[in-house]
Amino acid sequence: MGGCHSYPSATKVDSKTPQPTDNQDEKLGINNNNREKQPYLQQQNVCQMITNMDMFLLAKLPPGVDKAEWLASNTVAFFKHINLFSSALSEFCTPGTCPTACGPGNTVYVWIDDHGRKLKCSAPLYFDYAMSYIHDLLTDEDVFPTKAGAAFPTGFVFLVQKVFLLLFRTLAHIYWSHYSETLALGLHPHLNTLFTHFTLFCQQHALLDPEDTEPLQDLIAALERQEMTLRGNTDLKI
Ligand SMILES: [Zn+2]
Repeated sequence: MGGCHSYPSATKVDSKTPQPTDNQDEKLGINNNNREKQPYLQQQNVCQMITNMDMFLLAKLPPGVDKAEWLASNTVAFFKHINLFSSALSEFCTPGTCPTACGPGNTVYVWIDDHGRKLKCSAPLYFDYAMSYIHDLLTDEDVFPTKAGAAFPTGFVFLVQKVFLLLFRTLAHIYWSHYSETLALGLHPHLNTLFTHFTLFCQQHALLDPEDTEPLQDLIAALERQEMTLRGNTDLKI
């Protein structure tokens, strides 16, 4: 086992502090709501995937395909997969278990309503709002047109970015608060595969702000390293 990083055990991890990205075999001593070390960073879990498909290739815009069409079809697909995945864990995410919508580094996600008011709500309520918002957007013919030749609206990419941020937070909450249930159900290889594809797609098309993904950057780097190792490419640029 290589050089071991650890964090002060009794203090919250400062989400602004860059996390180490150069150790893949060790257990990182990060606090999780005063619970245990993060199991999702352990190498025996990081390497669990359901496919050895090339995720970098999967995320790229195929030659000859319109970029907006590519973004739209992937947005719909990621929404369906992530919604399905979070539904599988919904019995564990209740106002009692998750009174706030929290993510890595004890980040708390706050919903902003139509009038710009901030609503601090439980995780299930927050993600209900998020999924309903996305569903309404994806079924709005003016935003995600399904008819051949129909134009995408101005600001389409901005709306896609908003959707991806909410989907990212959904996955972040699962890793942060429901990883033990994910492990118990044997769903962790599915979660890793989905998250790797998702983050590589976001990187490829500049859909997420690094500031938003930073609390999970240690996992993103570990999964990307794993993916590069599978491709035989050790030229890491993370
Ligand atoms: Zn929860």
